[in-house]
Amino acid sequence: MRKMLLNPRDLRRLMQGRVPGQLVIQFTDHCNARCPQCGMRVTESFPRSRLSTDRIKKIIDGAAEKGVKALSFTGGEPLLFLPELAELIRHAYGAGIPCIRTGTNGFIFAGFEKKGFRKKVERLTDLFAETRLRNFWISIDSADPAIHEKMRGFPGIISGIERVLPIFHERGIYPSANLGINRNISGESIEPLSRNGDRKGNEAAFHRRFIQGFTAFFSAVERMGFTIVNCCYPMSLNRDEGGLSAVYAATAADRVVKFTPREKALMFNALCQVIPRFRSRIRIFSPRSSLRALQKEHGEGSVDAYACRGGIDFFFIGAADGKTYPCGYRGADPMGEFADLDPDAIPADHHCRSCDWECFRDPSELLGPVSDLLSGNLLPLALKWRRDPEMLRLWVEDLLYYRACDFFDGRRQIDLMRLSRFNMQQQRGH
Ligand code: SF4
Ligand code: SF4
Repeated sequence: MRKMLLNPRDLRRLMQGRVPGQLVIQFTDHCNARCPQCGMRVTESFPRSRLSTDRIKKIIDGAAEKGVKALSFTGGEPLLFLPELAELIRHAYGAGIPCIRTGTNGFIFAGFEKKGFRKKVERLTDLFAETRLRNFWISIDSADPAIHEKMRGFPGIISGIERVLPIFHERGIYPSANLGINRNISGESIEPLSRNGDRKGNEAAFHRRFIQGFTAFFSAVERMGFTIVNCCYPMSLNRDEGGLSAVYAATAADRVVKFTPREKALMFNALCQVIPRFRSRIRIFSPRSSLRALQKEHGEGSVDAYACRGGIDFFFIGAADGKTYPCGYRGADPMGEFADLDPDAIPADHHCRSCDWECFRDPSELLGPVSDLLSGNLLPLALKWRRDPEMLRLWVEDLLYYRACDFFDGRRQIDLMRLSRFNMQQQRGH
C-alpha cells in the first residue's frame, strides 16, 4: 500500500507555519565524472568519504520519527555503491518515508555496444523496481550529446541512456532528466552579457539564447524518451561568496555556471517563458511561481520570494562528517547529529535567500502559501499577492499542474490526456 503523502501530523505542522520535512543525505562524495561545474569531480584531490549504511539507517529512523516526508540520497555518485544504496532505499520506505529519491551521472549507461549491457541494466532496474524508490534522476547538461559527454567525461553515454529508458519504463520507473543549468545547454556556449555597447540589445540577445537553449534542451530530452525533467539552478559559489561555505561541493567557480544577478534574472525569465510550451508533453518539475520569485530577487532585489526552509524544515547530511547542516551550502552553521535535532523546536525566524538551490528553494516557494493559509498568516500573503497578482496566478497554475502530473510520481506513467486538459484549461483562462 502506498504511504500517505500528508498525514494529520503534517497538517498540524502546516497550521503551525511549518512545512513537511525534507532531508538530503550525501551518501558519498566519491565520483567518477569530470563535470567542470562541480568540486567533487574525479580530478579534484581531497579525502573522499562514504557514510556507513548503519549510520545512515540511524539517521533515516530519526528522520521518520521527526516526520520527514522526502528523502534524497545524493553524491558524489550514489550508484558507485549500488547494493548499499538499494538497502538504504528499502530501509527508508520501511521506516515510513514516502518520497525517496536518488539519481546518477549515468556512468553505468556507458558502453551500450558491449556484450552484457542489457543484462547489466536489467539487474539495476530490477533492483530499483523492488524498492519503493519514487524518483530516479539522470543528469544531462546539454541538448548537444557531444557537449554533455565531454562535460561529464563519459563518451557514448547519451546513446546508452536512450537505450535504457525503455527498460526502466517496462519496470514502471520513469526517470527524470536533471538539467544543471549552465552556459552550454544548447551546445555553443552562451557568452556573458557584454558591458559594452547597447545594454538592452545585449540583454535581449542573452535572453533569446536562453530561450533557444531551454527549448533545445526540453526537445532533446523528450526525443530521448524522458517523461519528467527538472532544472537545477546554477550554483557557482566561491567559498567566500555571500558568506556561504559549501559542505556539498556540487558547486564551482567555473564560468560555465557563473552568472551575474542580471544574467540570472534573464535566465529565470527565459525558463519561465519556455516551460508552458512543453508542459503538455513532458512533466516539468520547476514551478513557474518559484522562477518568477527568483527572477524578481535577482533582477529587482525583491524579497517577495519565500525564505528558504533550509535549517528549519529541510536539512542536509554531509558525507565527510555525517553531521547535519541547514543545507549543502551553509557549512559555517553546523547543527550537530541529526538524532539530537528537534525540528519542532527550531524557530522559523531565519530568513535565508543566499542561494538558488532548487531542492530547497522550489518547495519553500510552493509550500509557503499553503503554510500561510493554514496558519492564518493571511495579511502578509494578501499584501504580497496584491503587489504582484501574477505570483498568485502562477502559484495556482503550478498546483493544478502538479496535480495533473500526479505530483511527479516517478512510478507512474505520464498521463498525456490529463496534461493536455490542463493545457487547454490554461489557454481558456488567458
Ligand atoms: S556534478 Fe555530480 S556527477 Fe558531476 S562531478 Fe559533481 S557529483 Fe560527480
Ligand atoms: S537559500 Fe536555502 S539552500 Fe541556499 S544557503 Fe540559504 S538555507 Fe541554504
